[in-house]
Amino acid sequence: MFKATADVDPATTLFNLPGYRVLSVTRDAGGTRQVLIEAGVVEAACPGCGVLTSRVHQRTVQRVRDVPFDGPVEVLWSKRRWRCAERLCPRTTFTEHTEQVPPRARLTTRLKERLVAALSGEVRAVDRVGAEYGVTWPTVMRQLTAAHAARAAAEQFRPRPVASLGIDEHRFRTVRWFRDEAGAWKRIEPWMTTFTDLATGQVLGVVDGRDSAAVKTWLRTRPRWWRHRVRTVAIDPSAAFRSAVRSWLPKARVAVDHFHLVKLANDALTKVRRRVSWDRHERRGRGTDLAWAHRLLLLRGYDTLSNRARERLNAVLAQDDPAQEISAAWGVKEQLRRVLAASSIADASAERATFNQYVSWAAMPETTRLKKTIDTWWAAIKVFIQTRATNARTEAANVTIKNIKRAGRGYRSHTNYQCRIMLYNAARSAA
Ligand SMILES: [Zn+2]
Repeated sequence: MFKATADVDPATTLFNLPGYRVLSVTRDAGGTRQVLIEAGVVEAACPGCGVLTSRVHQRTVQRVRDVPFDGPVEVLWSKRRWRCAERLCPRTTFTEHTEQVPPRARLTTRLKERLVAALSGEVRAVDRVGAEYGVTWPTVMRQLTAAHAARAAAEQFRPRPVASLGIDEHRFRTVRWFRDEAGAWKRIEPWMTTFTDLATGQVLGVVDGRDSAAVKTWLRTRPRWWRHRVRTVAIDPSAAFRSAVRSWLPKARVAVDHFHLVKLANDALTKVRRRVSWDRHERRGRGTDLAWAHRLLLLRGYDTLSNRARERLNAVLAQDDPAQEISAAWGVKEQLRRVLAASSIADASAERATFNQYVSWAAMPETTRLKKTIDTWWAAIKVFIQTRATNARTEAANVTIKNIKRAGRGYRSHTNYQCRIMLYNAARSAA
């Protein structure tokens, strides 16, 4: 059997907004329910002198946005202005505020928490969540920004040490221009740089751009002790990243990410294939050209191919590569993969000698340029071979980031976008 409680009425219990009492619930002509509430207190402490008072100076009604409850609910707060009981206090009156509706707030704290929670753990569109809770896109973004700032402040205060750091660039969008308020055209930087803890895959930060300044700006905000504990940094073969790491992470060894090196080798192979196609047909590759039809097969690692795929690859190279240029570039690419797969520096050096031999036999500008990159980054390649530090997990984070971008249908503001990424990531790490 249910027992009616004397102190709390049913509407207040149902409404369940901490610190508030429901005074009345009415329905307007449009069907919207209006809930009139007041703070469940009988006295308040003056912020000027701290003396408690129970004298109400006046009441005003403030509209407050709250969580919808089976349809829209309009919340009206009958807000008191208290009169200070201390005669000598300069603060003669003061308005009340609560944990659920702090000063200047237009939304209840529980609504803010819902908005942030709805967008932190999941890849959802901001406007969809806004529609669900009856608030506008900028309102949702403001909550996310505030939550992100609070989290960043806490993180800044005491960041966790990271021994292996990943720095990876990703394309945020295509280059766009937009007009600012003064009417001037501004270029939107299409690249972002992500910082990851390689041990956990956690995204530590996202910054605009992919130059040395972007990376330095982020590293500079880390405490000195944190920077001194970073032992290994996995980066793309980018001189800008390397320079930033050298100046701000003095104890770290730079490991170049092997995926990016293999990608450079694949790019060289693709350039050769295109050049050969132009030389032979004086046009771009098309479906009837074997090398074009099997262009992805060329890029795959030979050790990952089935016997049938290997036969097909041999047939392609035999029929569509008369001067054996594609074959030469393919051999260079495969040899680079063997260099990177080596388990010791001695093995890697031996494989590198073979690689250099292949490049000199190939004698093509595309593969010669690749060799130059390998020479430039050899020290960082050796660190990779010793540590196997890779940005594979950063890449995974970038996939999530792209999904956030897609769900957001393109964020104009980087701050908004960064904030989504960091909150999503924080929610994932907490789970
Ligand atoms: Zn006072």
